[in-house]
Amino acid sequence: MEKVKVLIIGSGPAGFTAAIYTSRANLSPVLYEGIEPGGQLTTTTEIENFPGYPEGITGTLMMEDLKKQALRFGADVRRGIITDIDFSERPFKVTVDHEHQIEAESVIVCTGATAKYLGLESEAKYRGMGVSACATCDGFFYRKRDVAVVGGGDTACEEATYLASICRKVYLIVRKNYLRASKAMQERVFNTPNIEVLFEHNTVEVLGDDEGVTGALLKHSVTGEERTIDIMGFFLAIGHHPNVEVFKGQLELDEQGYIKVVPGTSKTSVEGVFAAGDVKDPHYRQAITAAGSGCIAALDCERWLLAQ
Ligand code: NDP
Repeated sequence: MEKVKVLIIGSGPAGFTAAIYTSRANLSPVLYEGIEPGGQLTTTTEIENFPGYPEGITGTLMMEDLKKQALRFGADVRRGIITDIDFSERPFKVTVDHEHQIEAESVIVCTGATAKYLGLESEAKYRGMGVSACATCDGFFYRKRDVAVVGGGDTACEEATYLASICRKVYLIVRKNYLRASKAMQERVFNTPNIEVLFEHNTVEVLGDDEGVTGALLKHSVTGEERTIDIMGFFLAIGHHPNVEVFKGQLELDEQGYIKVVPGTSKTSVEGVFAAGDVKDPHYRQAITAAGSGCIAALDCERWLLAQ
């Protein structure tokens, strides 16, 4: 059976940062890229808020660069999906693509989270061309324009308020007749004059042309009345799900399903297993915070291995 010192699962900014640090520490990490090589950033267009890129950079290029940097220091980056795991004893047993077995002394989990989408064909068509699941990442492209946010939770309210500070008008499309968000967040929304809350509305279609999104067709869930709104940005804020399926029953998760870590560290409920990036972070979800936590996990892992 193949034996590795550090196994990194996931290839977003957290995974590659962990790979850069652990390879530079001579720990010969093996990184499996998982279902979506490069992670969520490959689904965004331009990244303008990652420090060090004054002109911005595309998500795909940033991930290619991170991968090159990890390879340069000797990280072993492989295609493959982890299909089974046994963390009950060390070394940990891991199965790749249902067949390849690995024994790992330590594991860094960086499997990320996936934004939920409505599932409309038109929404998929315009993803990255006006459809986005991250207002902090993409809101700036729609400054002084009209946009819509879908959802009624804290994220939707937070994103709508943020977008209202840069866009001309924000429609908040809520499927129920109330907001699920905390009272404080609701008040912020109701007190922001350029946010219009459209209660009991569902999106029937995202409208667009060759340039991207131009509007959305909405339907009132009670009256059935349809209306079109003219917008250039369509933001989903209907929740994320952390990619933890293979770790269920192996690692402690919080009530929302994110991997629990000892606060201020990357240490999970299993000694020798560390977590970094969005899979343990329901709050910040930024490339830079994921990269930072990948570094923390690499250092925690390195120190733990040294102490063994
Ligand atoms: P939530 O699960 O709280 O809310 C999701 C929202 O999306 C709900 O309003 C839900 O509607 C709506 N929704 C879900 N599916 C659909 C759909 N198919 N069509 C239309 N609407 C849909 O997710 P959040 O991301 O907002 O929050 C996740 C957690 O993070 C929460 O615990 C939240 O409190 C927390 N959080 C805290 C923040 C803070 O404290 N600053 C900021 C952001 C998040 P419905 O209500 O009808 O189910």
